[in-house]
Amino acid sequence: MSLSDLQAETTEVLARLVRFNTVNPPGNERPAIEYLAGYLEDAGLRTELLACDENRPNLVADLEGTGDGPILCYLGHVDTVLADPSEWAHDPWSGDVVDGFLWGRGALDMKSQVAAEAVAAAALGREGWRPANGHLRLVFVADEETGGDVGAHWLTTVHPAKVRCDMLINEGGGEVFEYGGARRYGVCAGEKGIFRFKLTAHGAAGHASIPRTGDNALLKLGPVLDKLAGAKLSVQLSEAPAAFLRSIGEDPDDPAAALARIEAADPALLTLLEPMFGVTLTPTMAHASDKINVIPSRAYLKIDCRVPPGFGEDAAHERIAHVLGADGRDFEIEFTEKVMGNSSPTASPLMDAIDRWVQANDPGADTVPVILPGFSDSKWFRDAFPDCVAYGFFPQRHMSVLEAAPLVHNADERIDVRDLGFAASSYVDIARELLG
Ligand SMILES: [Zn+2]
Repeated sequence: MSLSDLQAETTEVLARLVRFNTVNPPGNERPAIEYLAGYLEDAGLRTELLACDENRPNLVADLEGTGDGPILCYLGHVDTVLADPSEWAHDPWSGDVVDGFLWGRGALDMKSQVAAEAVAAAALGREGWRPANGHLRLVFVADEETGGDVGAHWLTTVHPAKVRCDMLINEGGGEVFEYGGARRYGVCAGEKGIFRFKLTAHGAAGHASIPRTGDNALLKLGPVLDKLAGAKLSVQLSEAPAAFLRSIGEDPDDPAAALARIEAADPALLTLLEPMFGVTLTPTMAHASDKINVIPSRAYLKIDCRVPPGFGEDAAHERIAHVLGADGRDFEIEFTEKVMGNSSPTASPLMDAIDRWVQANDPGADTVPVILPGFSDSKWFRDAFPDCVAYGFFPQRHMSVLEAAPLVHNADERIDVRDLGFAASSYVDIARELLG
């Protein structure tokens, strides 16, 4: 299929997907998954629905070859976060195309990638292509946005043989940005761990009308919030961020200077990139007295702490001690969630194939490994299949990371339709190159 045909068909499939309301919770992904199954069956793929919850099935679709070889999997989730139509310029479930953009919840995260992957596989299937070496597999899942209990986590745990793969392309990377005079496409090679904790201050209760009778625990949180607000990032460099700095021409042995240069060149870019270089502490919840006239004897903050892959709870403790200093000993720290980060090696045949594709299709551009500050289903595949190399890659050439990133989970989510064809063609070409 030509690039313009791929663009037209991916735009159509994405519009159909956007019109299925799959806001999770409750998800209700069945109609969207059944539509995709029918679309791929018509193109010659073998499909199977696997469900933990009957309203929320997952789809596995295979294009099998004859020879031995790797299984290349294209993964995507069809659920979305919620949307408030009153905040949008166009209805979030319309799939309308206006001025070259397709609008709707999921237009970036990530019905667009699902559509591009499906159209690529359908185009290959319809023209009679079958892998000479290996196997092309598509896995479209429910329930990513609330953690994958009936989606990728369940599939990789209960049906590992059906979703096993050697190479995986998922969400989390691919938008272009410019740095040092060159265009760069991020390929997401890992995601940070989550070490959320509760920080509690203790005092003594008293009557609020006589302030000095008690020892107000809430007031003790003020200096903590000040310190968190003023804390400068301390760098803890893991493999992918070090490779990132090298590939944009910066020195990973002097990361502080590298980050200062990125900030000088483009402060908005540094805001997006910075979290991959270290532990972040973000206070998001607070609680003190249950009554307005009682001085609280306890007050706490809940802090969302993210740790780069390769580092664990020790790194979180070090960061807390560094930010709070000696005063930190006055507070009780209790971790409520501990999830290690995960990553794939940045050097692999899949990375080489992505890199060659970018260089061939955007001359002068290159790829750079990045780390996702948040969570994706890649974690479940890396956990279940330790040898699987998983990357986030959905190439967007016409919409930069600075334009796209703020729209994810936000109002007016939309995508430049030219990027739909661009991405679909990447999935056609990469499958042909790796599977023959
Ligand atoms: Zn997503």
